Amino acid sequence: MKSQGFRDTGMIVRRPARPGALAPTNLAKLMRCLDGSQNIALPVRPRGAGSSATDCNVATAGTTIDMSGLDRITHIDTHNQTVTAEAGVRIGELIAALAEDGLELIGNFDQTERTLGGAIAAPCMGPGIGGHASMLSTQVVGLKSVTPSGRMMKVSNTQRHLLSAFRLSYGMLGLIYEVTLRVRPITTFTASHRSMDIDTFAHVSDRLASGNVGLKFYLMPYRNHVYLDLRHYDSNSGNAYSAPWKIKDWGESTVLPNVFKSLNRVMPIPSVRYQLMDTLSATTHGLVNSKLVRNGNNVTAGGRHRRRKPSNLLYSTWCFPASDFSVVVKAYARFCRETFAHTAYRCDLPAVGYRVARDNSALLSPSFDEALIALQTTSTQKRGWDDFVLDLSEFAENWGGTPLFNQTLSTRDAYVAQTYGGRMEFFKKIRRQLDPDNRLLNPYLARYFQ
Ligand SMILES: Cc1cc2nc3c(=O)[nH]c(=O)nc-3n(C[C@H](O)[C@H](O)[C@H](O)COP(=O)(O)OP(=O)(O)OC[C@H]3O[C@@H](n4cnc5c(N)ncnc54)[C@H](O)[C@@H]3O)c2cc1C
Repeated sequence: MKSQGFRDTGMIVRRPARPGALAPTNLAKLMRCLDGSQNIALPVRPRGAGSSATDCNVATAGTTIDMSGLDRITHIDTHNQTVTAEAGVRIGELIAALAEDGLELIGNFDQTERTLGGAIAAPCMGPGIGGHASMLSTQVVGLKSVTPSGRMMKVSNTQRHLLSAFRLSYGMLGLIYEVTLRVRPITTFTASHRSMDIDTFAHVSDRLASGNVGLKFYLMPYRNHVYLDLRHYDSNSGNAYSAPWKIKDWGESTVLPNVFKSLNRVMPIPSVRYQLMDTLSATTHGLVNSKLVRNGNNVTAGGRHRRRKPSNLLYSTWCFPASDFSVVVKAYARFCRETFAHTAYRCDLPAVGYRVARDNSALLSPSFDEALIALQTTSTQKRGWDDFVLDLSEFAENWGGTPLFNQTLSTRDAYVAQTYGGRMEFFKKIRRQLDPDNRLLNPYLARYFQ
């Protein structure tokens, strides 16, 4: 019998490495993972909290590196208003630590179980107020990364182009180990809420999308209803208590998905089930998006800190030009109703939308050229979801939607190339220089970036 490590020629060859997962807890171990002399299965994919919807954070045939063990907050500089932390730190933990020093992240991000690395390497967006940046990666002033061959690399804000490529690089240029971010003193905003039908929302959305407010909304296409959450800075804003925001977050992100999961199991008649679900959504949003929350800041409005994303939640996000949204939102509601009529599939949770300010700080920024409205379609209904997201992609392409590499399902390669255009070509050049052997490229990302 042939021995496994030897060829017939007698030369020693390596055993093929087995696919697997590694979880380094310090820099030395992280560097060793990628060291060329270590025989690990390729490709390598870093993973933060794993909250992305696509396969951008897995390496089924290679090695997935779980970054969440690198979770130290290295330094909070209250004088220069920066924080330096390892990539595996959860956003919720970072928010809590900063608050002890009277500081907050710039921007409101409510999926607080995500990691700092995942939130820098992929879009971490929220409703920015006025012209303020909506993406956390914009605030990066420096970072340390481990190269595809296991060496340490520092990128500072004097290397403008390189830093802009590293922001939203989806782990293709290196494994981000440590990040320094700009932060700011806690600033209270006023939140006001309205609810209206979709036509009325379409009518006011132009004004809201270009105004000096942070816009977030919950859209119920089958009930023809929208719940608005409008935020603005106000010199008279009072205290921002965290309890009401916790109740709001609990209602929206825990109660509804879990109740709907049970209803999907126990209620076989779709018409009754959907009526119940819509009534529950309307009641929850009517309650929590009313007078419950009035004043907030990026600490209180960050939501509860969970360790994991809700496992039953399916989502796909497309971004649309804010300037066209008054037309797109009506078309989207029509698309949802028509698809339901033809296929009997519909999403059970309201879609969530928010305004993303124009931001060209990252080469792969989705809002590089103009302000966008991100529309996150969410559901707990698995059966029929795959076909639904294919139809959704066709709809979104027709309306000039911009896909996100980690949050948009079923995108066509040619459409992605057309949308990101020359910036994608430039990114590919940098990627090839930093990772000539494609050690960090899994099949999903290779479709777009090889
Ligand atoms: C219920 C729900 C709601 C959401 N709401 C929002 C929202 O409002 N706004 C929004 O923008 N997003 C939202 N998301 C999407 C998601 O949370 C973000 O994209 C998030 O930033 C991903 O962080 P993560 O730690 O989970 O990263 P992962 O999903 O694990 O990874 C994301 C990408 O970053 C890479 N990566 C991770 N860590 C590193 C590292 N250290 N170095 C280099 N590359 C790395 C991965 O390889 C992958 O390509 C939501 C997701 C869910 C499930």
